[in-house]
Amino acid sequence: MDYYQILGVERTASVEEIKAAYRKLAMKYHPDRNPGDKKAEERFKQISEAYAVLSDPRKRSQFDQFGSVDRSNINLNDIFRSFGFGGLDDLFGDFFGTSSRYSRASAGDDIEEVLEISFKEAALGTKKTIKINYEKNCASCGGNGGDSATCPRCGGRGSTQISHGFISLATTCSRCGGTGLIITKRCHVCKGSGITKEAKKITVKIPAGVDNGNYYRLNGYGHAGKNGGPNGDLYLKFKVVNDTQFIRDGNNIILHQPVSLISAVLGDTITVETLYGREEIKIPEGTDSGEEFILKGKGIRGGNQIVRIFVQTPKNLTAEAKRRFKEFAKVYDETKGKEDKDIVGKIKNFFKSAYNT
Ligand SMILES: [Zn+2]
Ligand SMILES: [Zn+2]
Repeated sequence: MDYYQILGVERTASVEEIKAAYRKLAMKYHPDRNPGDKKAEERFKQISEAYAVLSDPRKRSQFDQFGSVDRSNINLNDIFRSFGFGGLDDLFGDFFGTSSRYSRASAGDDIEEVLEISFKEAALGTKKTIKINYEKNCASCGGNGGDSATCPRCGGRGSTQISHGFISLATTCSRCGGTGLIITKRCHVCKGSGITKEAKKITVKIPAGVDNGNYYRLNGYGHAGKNGGPNGDLYLKFKVVNDTQFIRDGNNIILHQPVSLISAVLGDTITVETLYGREEIKIPEGTDSGEEFILKGKGIRGGNQIVRIFVQTPKNLTAEAKRRFKEFAKVYDETKGKEDKDIVGKIKNFFKSAYNT
């Protein structure tokens, strides 16, 4: 499913544009406006899912990178409520099978951790062991916060009825907060919160090709859910340290390769670094600064390495070397423009002697 297509927005659309597109479509396909129309209902759910993903920067990043997201942690309820559409129960009745007793169950919060990795680790993929501080359900009380009993106010239903004439409305029980249970004896370990803090080490396999600012999601590694809800997720945000040699350009890698004047003029076989080890490349006679040589497949995920040459001009020459250079200038002046087949040979000889002094 292409969420951008579903909402009819560009891939570069801003959060505001996405919100506006969703609002417009949601009004059109809202179940209240299309009673009994299964197609409209399906479409309403689709656009809502698209909005849930694209309005969340982490889910959007996941979708942009991999073309899909894990749909199990998309919470449409929150989306509907924030737009004033009511919850799923209000919209689709019992369609989703939510029961009132556990309607307070909520997913645990997500954790976001910044993970610093080297250029090479990002390019080739790696394994990292990280320490995460997270909230889990208290082992002593099972997350209940202590001994519990059925709430006397609502009789365990979690909701109470308020009557206005003929109309009777159900509201969440104010005593138990909708759980249907109250704490009779507070747990001494978690002091009634039902939550304890813990640190755990996890080893993560990071795929090749992640880039600065990319998110990587680990399903269920976030904080513990409440009242039976699922755990949140762990989001790793990558901070890729710049490399001293390599520059990334999408899946290609650019390497600025210094080459001596001699090698540039006469041609040479030079050794260059790649992410996969050293490679030899042949540079022809008369190579200029800025010329590029491609090492196929030596980039990221099948990309190339581009070797960009810069010619190093010799500095701090001895008086003798300077004299020879002037001599060369004369030879060069005499031969340029003419069809001198031996120019390369002359230059070769000149440089050999100039540098051997
Ligand atoms: Zn109650
Ligand atoms: Zn406890």
